[in-house]
Amino acid sequence: MRNGNVLRGSRVGSAPARPTERYEPAPCRAVTYWCRNGHDVEIRIAAEAPVPDLWDCTRCGLPAGRDPGNPPGRARSEPYKTHLAYVKERRTDAEGAAILAEALDALRRRRGRPEC
Ligand SMILES: [Zn+2]
Repeated sequence: MRNGNVLRGSRVGSAPARPTERYEPAPCRAVTYWCRNGHDVEIRIAAEAPVPDLWDCTRCGLPAGRDPGNPPGRARSEPYKTHLAYVKERRTDAEGAAILAEALDALRRRRGRPEC
């Protein structure tokens, strides 16, 4: 039923070629997020899609949440640390070597199985 030339013929700002032909967009809803810097970000998502808890602020990049009074992401006082740095805080090198050996063993065992 849809005219195949609609897209080709459309220009920015041009009126729909056939106003009488009702085009129903997927139902969607507006969801607003607030970041710590007081920005609000409104996004539109499909009505049936689950609402994400967090959305990156489009202005400053901080995570933004649904509660304007309690935006997520404490102001970061700690410098960025790599995952490895965190792991090294908790594990000694010897423990790390043992864990690595264990993981490699498990990997080899899994690869040895016919279904993998
Ligand atoms: Zn922001």
